[in-house]
Amino acid sequence: MPMNSLDALFEDTLRDMYYAEKKLTKILPKMAKKATSEELTEAFTSHAEETQGQVQRIEQVFDMLDKTPRAKKCEALEGLSAEGDHVMEEAEDDGVMDAGLIASAQAVEHYEIARYGALIAWAKQLDMSDAADLLAESLEEEKAADEKLNGLAETVNPMAARQEAA
Ligand code: ZN
Ligand code: FE
Ligand code: FE
Ligand code: FE
Repeated sequence: MPMNSLDALFEDTLRDMYYAEKKLTKILPKMAKKATSEELTEAFTSHAEETQGQVQRIEQVFDMLDKTPRAKKCEALEGLSAEGDHVMEEAEDDGVMDAGLIASAQAVEHYEIARYGALIAWAKQLDMSDAADLLAESLEEEKAADEKLNGLAETVNPMAARQEAA
């Protein structure tokens, strides 16, 4: 669709994130299954549950715009997801698998943080403070997920490093 206004850009990006969050409700449980550390499985599982709430928040924002929620393929998430699949297929050591999964997940969190940051700034600019507040709740969850993964990497990386290079 032609984007000749900030409203149109906001809606286009909201549709992109709707696609990404919906897809992540399916990707995160797969990552939880592949993770070998119990804490990492738990982190992915709880973020998968949060992500369902994030999908609902985006639907609420579409509602505020009087628009039907429609997803638009997010090429960035497709690419990040393909990179994550590669790690899940190729990693043979438990520590290496977990270190790779954490890095893949953090790439996604950083993408989400960037997108929500822009959407919140645009919502404020467009005098949609209710939408900005809702999206800010999701942004805080993404930041917390990223921080939790930072902490888990501190125990996982030394385990991955113990594995001899083959
Ligand atoms: Zn677009
Ligand atoms: Fe999310
Ligand atoms: Fe995207
Ligand atoms: Fe996330």
